[in-house]
Amino acid sequence: PSGCAFHPRCRFAGERCRADVPKLEVLVPGHSAACWVSAATGMPVVPEEDDLVRKARRTLSVEPVLRIENLRTDVNRGSGSFFSKAKPIFAVDGVSLEIRPGETLGLVGESGCGKSTLSRTIVGINPVAEGRITVAGRDVSAMDQEDRDTITRTIQYVFQDPFASLNPRRSIAQSLGEALGVAGIRGEKARQRSVELLLRVGLNEDFLERYPYELSGGQRQRVGIARALATEPKLLICDEPVSALDVSIQAQIINLLEELRDELGLGYLFIAHDLSVVRHISDNVAVMYLGKIVELGTAEQVYGSPQHPYTAALISSTPEPVLDAPQEKIVLAGDMPSPANPPSGCRFRTRCPIGPEYFPEREICSTSSPSLQETGTGQKAACHFVGTPLQIRTGR
Ligand code: SF4
Ligand code: SF4
Repeated sequence: PSGCAFHPRCRFAGERCRADVPKLEVLVPGHSAACWVSAATGMPVVPEEDDLVRKARRTLSVEPVLRIENLRTDVNRGSGSFFSKAKPIFAVDGVSLEIRPGETLGLVGESGCGKSTLSRTIVGINPVAEGRITVAGRDVSAMDQEDRDTITRTIQYVFQDPFASLNPRRSIAQSLGEALGVAGIRGEKARQRSVELLLRVGLNEDFLERYPYELSGGQRQRVGIARALATEPKLLICDEPVSALDVSIQAQIINLLEELRDELGLGYLFIAHDLSVVRHISDNVAVMYLGKIVELGTAEQVYGSPQHPYTAALISSTPEPVLDAPQEKIVLAGDMPSPANPPSGCRFRTRCPIGPEYFPEREICSTSSPSLQETGTGQKAACHFVGTPLQIRTGR
């Protein structure tokens, strides 16, 4: 590229960046950068304004785009007679959450904790057993299928594997045209809109006649995002959207998602295994264990001062890039139990480092299920012994 070699992928790029090559210049002693924006401000490039805008937005009392109240999903419930007598299995059990426009809620937890069942229930793949889902102010749990299809168009999915989510026999124009057709946009209008969508995600018209196998992983995910935007949604469910991509491409896709969120005011439910990615993109974070939310707060609260022992264990398993600071790992015993047969009382008690497995006198953990309650540090946590110092068992 002309000018700064990074300009085609830089969200701060300006005119000078496209024309002139920046030189490595000292900003502060020990910190140099080759960047026109840094040189002009004398500071490393930090999206300070974005952060301020996002913080301000959190304090505004706008109507949530998604509100979930005491949701239960029985994964053993189906329409056929085979399912009707089956014992209920609540993979999501009493979950309440809210997402406002322009806000990202990160959802973390081990495989099988109920994250995907929750997102499938939001879009109507799994039926609601109990509780309520309100999308853009309308209760979708009580709607008939037709109304529900209309309102859930305002929710779109960005999938983990962009190759699997695109039909290999359809050109990009056909894939986008199909999504636009759902919104009633066809013919020349659909073609124009497809070009707009491709430009919006950093691609161009040339991609219309290509097929998925002709695209890189990052380009395919951009097409996946363009397709999700076709129906002008209010909420995107991003289910592991970068885990199938190379690390360098992950950053591009995360930046793109952040730009779209801030410009279009989209709400995101962001599901990922990579806790550092979730921390980066999320305003709020919910930690899920065996169908229940065990901790909920802002990203700073949850990562800075985890109050539930499960959250602390998850965070301690994420390596920090600090070479001379040995990290203590909280090692959880055993595997997560099955939602078909959850432990009595606190569902985390069989693996909890401060629970009755190690402190038998803490009988309450076996008899009473803790509810999500405010802690002294601002977030909510579901534990009878919030604030108890963790008994850390150091891993290898
Ligand atoms: S802002 Fe800095 S890094 Fe970005 S394109 Fe301009 S010179 Fe390059
Ligand atoms: S309620 Fe008891 S078992 Fe559950 S997380 Fe708290 S200390 Fe551990």
